[in-house]
Amino acid sequence: MVNFTATLSALITANHILHYHEVVDAYGHVLVRNPNNDSTFFMSGYLAPALVSSMEDLIEYYVEDASPVDPNAGRGYSERNIHGEILKRFPSVNSVIHSHSENVLPYTISGVSLQLTYHMAGFLGEEVPVFDIAQYYNASDRHDMLVRNTRLGAALASYFSSSSDNLSATDLEPEHTLVLMRSHGFATIGTDIELAVYRAIYAHSNARVQTGAIALASQANSDGQPGAGGLGQVRYLSTRERTDSRAMNEGTRNRPWRMWVREVETYPGGLYQNALGTPPT
Ligand SMILES: [Zn+2]
Repeated sequence: MVNFTATLSALITANHILHYHEVVDAYGHVLVRNPNNDSTFFMSGYLAPALVSSMEDLIEYYVEDASPVDPNAGRGYSERNIHGEILKRFPSVNSVIHSHSENVLPYTISGVSLQLTYHMAGFLGEEVPVFDIAQYYNASDRHDMLVRNTRLGAALASYFSSSSDNLSATDLEPEHTLVLMRSHGFATIGTDIELAVYRAIYAHSNARVQTGAIALASQANSDGQPGAGGLGQVRYLSTRERTDSRAMNEGTRNRPWRMWVREVETYPGGLYQNALGTPPT
């Protein structure tokens, strides 16, 4: 049996790490599947990620419809159907992160595709899909961009698959590791919390690098100086480089996790508290 307390401790610390790295602010969330029961998951209640600190701040939900196991549980996030539907569709996924990253947001609305700019983001693969919720609203839905029900959650989850037109399919393995959400942010996944956190942080970083590279390339264009990929062109990773970088990312991700845990544990002023202690590193 997996150490239950260690898993929930990692969940609390993951909230802090994502805040420290500005992947989430007062919004955004991370969850973990119950290590002892595939049909439920844990995430924080209605609380800013930096302030999650104990078991009392966490709520257990059913994967099936993201309803709370304890009907008297306090208020939760309205978008937990994002997570329920991804966990339902992909049994291999045990952690999901949803972010409104300001670095990533421009790639959800500009028509410029998010590309793999450097080796630490190999997990982005060949293509990062964009989920446009406007294609799935009913007239009775609130059109506020939020994924508020299982139907919208299933639509988003399908974008992780190669068969996005089939909303009720179950896939053993997702085709994509990250999906952009138009005018909203992104969702990313992992077989464990550490991998999901790695992907969220490096997606945020990769987007910043890409925006900088595009700005410089356009300046090179106006200066008449050729960039690495030709005049005004940004050069991205090749297919082989993407595949091999992804394997490298997954093989080394424990190194940053260890540092990220220490960063939030030693953050001055006591902003980040974890009553469950240091997670395994
Ligand atoms: Zn959101």
